[in-house]
Amino acid sequence: MGPDELKGLIRTVPDFPKSGIQFRDITTLLAHGEGLAGSIKQMAAIARSLDADAVAGIEARGFIFGTALALELELGFVPLRKAGKLPVETIGEDYALEYGTARLELDPTLVSDGEKVLLIDDLLATGGTAIAGARLLRRAGAVVEHALFVIDLPELGGARALADETLKTHSVIS
Ligand code: IMP
Repeated sequence: MGPDELKGLIRTVPDFPKSGIQFRDITTLLAHGEGLAGSIKQMAAIARSLDADAVAGIEARGFIFGTALALELELGFVPLRKAGKLPVETIGEDYALEYGTARLELDPTLVSDGEKVLLIDDLLATGGTAIAGARLLRRAGAVVEHALFVIDLPELGGARALADETLKTHSVIS
């Protein structure tokens, strides 16, 4: 399945989680066999040119796509978790969301110095989440140059914000 067909599998839910927000719901894509496989194949085609040593995914939907992509590329998967979930010492980054604030945490022993890590999430909006993820990985010693999403919402300026942090944006659907 190509990007246009994949786009057709994404459901738009108006006024979620609050009035005025058009929520792009990828559960309809996940539940579609060819859609799920197609989205991972498209991500893998992009990722193969990016020369990664490992894949990191942002909880929760970045775990779904990130793990599947890591399997496809035969790379390890590093979880960037929401606050308070990891049983070991962590480093954390607080960040502003399109709606609210949040914190991501990482076990820094999961990445090694100079390891090239590809950052994955389902969707790029303002970029705050991905920037927090990249900062965490970099603090742990990783080299993070690329972030890959299923969906980029370009009107929200995420790619520009990521570029300011020397992160290149890639996406299957825009
Ligand atoms: P950002 O930090 O503003 O780029 O928001 C991206 C984060 O919020 C990602 O982790 C997304 O999963 C989530 N997100 C924001 N908007 C949407 C949406 O419309 N659909 C699904 N997830 C969203």
